[in-house]
Amino acid sequence: MDNLPIFLDIKGKDCLVVGGGDIAARKASLLIKAGADVTIVSPELATTTQSLIDEQSAKWIQAKFESMHADGRMLIMAATDIESVNRAVYDEAKQRNTLVNVADVPELCDFILGSILDRSPILVAISSGGDAPVLARNLRARLETLIPPSYSRLGQLAGKYRHVVKQKFKKLDFRRRFWEVVLQGEVAEHVYAGRDDLAEQTLQALITDDAPESLTRGEVYLVGAGPDDPDLLTFKALRLMQQADIVFYDRLVSKEVLALVRKEAEQVYVGKQRAWHAVRQEEINRLLLEHAQQGKRVLRLKGGDPFIFGRGGEEIETLAAENIHFQIVPGVTAASGCATYAGIPLTHRDYSQSCIFVTGQLKQGELDLNWSALVQPNQTVVVYMGLAGLPELTRQLLAHGMPADKPAALIQQGTTKNQQVWTSTVADLAALAEKEKPIAPTLIIIGDVVGLQEQLAWFDNQTDVKGSFS
Ligand code: SAH
Repeated sequence: MDNLPIFLDIKGKDCLVVGGGDIAARKASLLIKAGADVTIVSPELATTTQSLIDEQSAKWIQAKFESMHADGRMLIMAATDIESVNRAVYDEAKQRNTLVNVADVPELCDFILGSILDRSPILVAISSGGDAPVLARNLRARLETLIPPSYSRLGQLAGKYRHVVKQKFKKLDFRRRFWEVVLQGEVAEHVYAGRDDLAEQTLQALITDDAPESLTRGEVYLVGAGPDDPDLLTFKALRLMQQADIVFYDRLVSKEVLALVRKEAEQVYVGKQRAWHAVRQEEINRLLLEHAQQGKRVLRLKGGDPFIFGRGGEEIETLAAENIHFQIVPGVTAASGCATYAGIPLTHRDYSQSCIFVTGQLKQGELDLNWSALVQPNQTVVVYMGLAGLPELTRQLLAHGMPADKPAALIQQGTTKNQQVWTSTVADLAALAEKEKPIAPTLIIIGDVVGLQEQLAWFDNQTDVKGSFS
């Protein structure tokens, strides 16, 4: 970090602004807004500065800056257009160890003022350390649209009840949950809608409620984390990830996605290995149940979509049987993520009117699939977990009548910076895989739509299109 962001309490403190122009007025008015006792030193004043004297609490010393003006100040800001004056202000401040800022001269600044978004008591200040002020301003503009002005009233309401709530809920865990319920639920909705009285009544009722169920109840969030790229998470996934107490995650959940889970949440890896699938799954079901029964908010984070080859259904069945509350959040499944990032439309008016997702996982070395359905024309077949069984898969497809030259693609680690796409034909796909040795996770797409890949590939983040149609 180039700077330490701090929020300074300057209420009632003596602060000095040197200069009487518009920039000085802007600085002085910020200080006044934050409650400072502001004195302006300048031989003359622009109208903007004058109005701070007339209408606000600022004092004016009508004089040129002298060293005694710096005495007893907590903070000094200079905004004159005379370099020697600015320098003198800086030197005097330094002698007194007083914080100083000279407008537009970074070398003469102890501190800079960020780009400010004011939703008091909520304050956001963004700094680029002077490197890219426009970027900071753009970001502030984006936040402006995300954080409605009513946040201010919500913050004030929370402030008003902070102590009462602290008395009532001694345990930090409960308190945190209480505020989450208040700030993300009905109370917040009332404030956003301008129903402040109703918001306050609802808040009071929550405080007096003896055992608010929502605070002690465990819950499971079964969340689809998408194929890898964190940009493909849903807002809802992110929100629930931010309020979990514990997370159970899979092998397919990327580090970048995991980094977005609430920092204090305990992280438990439950990645599965093929050989001991069944036992392991029961254990996961049991873990989710146990932690929810302890009143925790349990995040079950799965690669892709939890209901597509994710065994999400089984995990939820156990919870439903025990009356545990749960929410399920869909994710971008590998078929969607990989197809779009590879430039392969899963359906297409001219080539494919349907799309089938199948698992290519071998059971005792065999694939038990509905082959005649898979070899139908004008459809796209997406095979999950198909790498190990690829020779058997393509052998069966050909044996059941799929044309040998049907286009087919392998997409390794789709949506990531390691994404690789190889295209070929069904007849040659197994040999291609043997040669290129793609690593997991890899998805297989078979169908005429693969022929569009070369033309539609857009994700050039090291995307390497190898192989060719024979
Ligand atoms: N629930 C997940 C699928 C789990 S099965 C989903 O909806 O995506 C695991 C298989 O998904 C892998 O064997 C692979 O075929 C596929 N897969 C998942 N993520 C992938 C990725 N980023 N790139 C390529 N294939 C992926």
